[in-house]
Amino acid sequence: MNEDSGNLNSYVFADDEHVRRERAKVREAKRSRWWQQKTARGLCSYCGKKFTFKELTLDHIVPLSRGGTTSPGNVVPACRMCNKGKGIDTPLDMLLSPPAPSEDT
Ligand SMILES: [Zn+2]
Repeated sequence: MNEDSGNLNSYVFADDEHVRRERAKVREAKRSRWWQQKTARGLCSYCGKKFTFKELTLDHIVPLSRGGTTSPGNVVPACRMCNKGKGIDTPLDMLLSPPAPSEDT
């Protein structure tokens, strides 16, 4: 049975094997087309600042340790500082109210 779609609110802690498997997909994901598209604008999903492609990290919205997966719906580009400072909290509320885009050019 695999019916965990739409069930993100049940905080099931995933087993090590799941984490290892999904972590292994990160390298692959970073080379994929959808990731290139996500990072094309160079914006961090949390602070909204602009970064170079190399500065952006792949961040899991639902952490792997909570059963999240390395898939387009669950990963966002984040700068190192946001990724690091976030800890284990699921930043869904941050995603629901994204920072206003800055207009300076
Ligand atoms: Zn950031």
